[in-house]
Amino acid sequence: MSKKNDTKSKAEQLKEKLLIKKESGAKKISADELKKADAFCEEYKNFLNKAKTEREAVAYAVKAAKKAGFTEFDRTKTYKAGDKVYVNNRNKSVMLAVIGKNGTKDGVRLGIAHIDSPRLDLKPNPLYESNDLALFKTHYYGGIKKYQWTTIPLALHGVVALKDGTTVDVTMGEKDSEPCFCVTDLLPHLADEQVRKPMYKAVTGEELNVLIGSRPFCTDEESESVKLNVMNIIFEKYGITEEDFLSADLTMVPSFKSKDIGFDRSMIGSYGHDDRVCAYPALMAALDAKNPDRTVITVLTDREEIGSEGNTGMKSTFMFDFIADLAQSDGEEVRHVMAKSSCLSADVNAAFDPTYASAYEANNSCYVNNGAVITKYTGSRGKSGTSEATAEFMAKVRAILDENGVIWQTGELGKVDIGGGGTIAKFVANLNVDVVDLGVPVLSMHAPFEVVSKIDVYMTYRAIASFYAAK
Ligand code: MN
Ligand code: MN
Repeated sequence: MSKKNDTKSKAEQLKEKLLIKKESGAKKISADELKKADAFCEEYKNFLNKAKTEREAVAYAVKAAKKAGFTEFDRTKTYKAGDKVYVNNRNKSVMLAVIGKNGTKDGVRLGIAHIDSPRLDLKPNPLYESNDLALFKTHYYGGIKKYQWTTIPLALHGVVALKDGTTVDVTMGEKDSEPCFCVTDLLPHLADEQVRKPMYKAVTGEELNVLIGSRPFCTDEESESVKLNVMNIIFEKYGITEEDFLSADLTMVPSFKSKDIGFDRSMIGSYGHDDRVCAYPALMAALDAKNPDRTVITVLTDREEIGSEGNTGMKSTFMFDFIADLAQSDGEEVRHVMAKSSCLSADVNAAFDPTYASAYEANNSCYVNNGAVITKYTGSRGKSGTSEATAEFMAKVRAILDENGVIWQTGELGKVDIGGGGTIAKFVANLNVDVVDLGVPVLSMHAPFEVVSKIDVYMTYRAIASFYAAK
């Protein structure tokens, strides 16, 4: 049934005026913006393949920042509006700032995303041989469903630091010409006992051992010659010995590449969307920020997946200290700057999954393609372990998004009392900053292969860029 515009019923008119219009962002987006979203995601896919660890993400960000005119911050220098600086924190987190017309006087605008993802770290003493196979012991990092990490191709990434002060970069298993690695699993024929276990017990942390070799060092009659042969190959390639594993950050990540998902190519499947899918838009917004009123600071942080602990995570003072330096050079007190500052904590939320619908509350879930998701609070149970954005700050953010034509939605992380999670928001809030979570809905979050929508990735970039540019 069709109807002319001028004959809208009273109910239709009221609906338009009073109710939220629930419609897929894929219907709302213009053809031009859709094209931009798809193009934006092409380079995002490259970023995913190049930056699988926080160190690689920092290297990517610093390189891109330098190219865009950012220079390394020097606290003895004075900076003027429009200047661009970066701070590299131990090659594991990085901050990019564009100095505003008013500097820090009216507070700063912060965009913070994390660049660490769940993975299998090597233990400090990883290498061993068992029944003529060489393996690495691992210690998982972040919240994973352990069974998902068996029988998938893994690549080794990281650095080994030597006593002479040099470091060796390691990447093995990414190129088609390179070998990769894997965690084995029990065949179904013999898994009767295993498959009857609860899922969280079916594969244990100590069973996440990575297969790395099987041939012995030929001239050696001693025991452990497979281990010796593997260590010799590693020595010849990287010049490191077994003891050097003690001073290494080495990790196993999925070796597969990001791929378009769906016949319509509307989505991207990849390792590490959480939270590169917000880090990349935040980085692009930082590079594109031009003459903002307030100084704009983008932070790509480490250690979020294990609770933001440590000197490269958001519980560290590194960001606060940087803002203190900026404030000091403006003749401001940092505590006054913080009180006037605001922040988008750019992190993902769980996209409604129709296959697991019972975990979600449909009215308050975020959906694939419906745009950047604003999450007022995270936490678990009775809003435990979370900050919550004030009504006033929520209003400010949604006004900015609407003024700039950003497609956005709101979401809670699943049903009340079913689980929960957190982000860096609460640590920023503790600094007396207004903060809210905004990011991309993700399917299969924390799995080795997560899925996001291209529209949502682009809208998160538009959201952060609009926030940076807003008065
Ligand atoms: Mn996250
Ligand atoms: Mn996460």
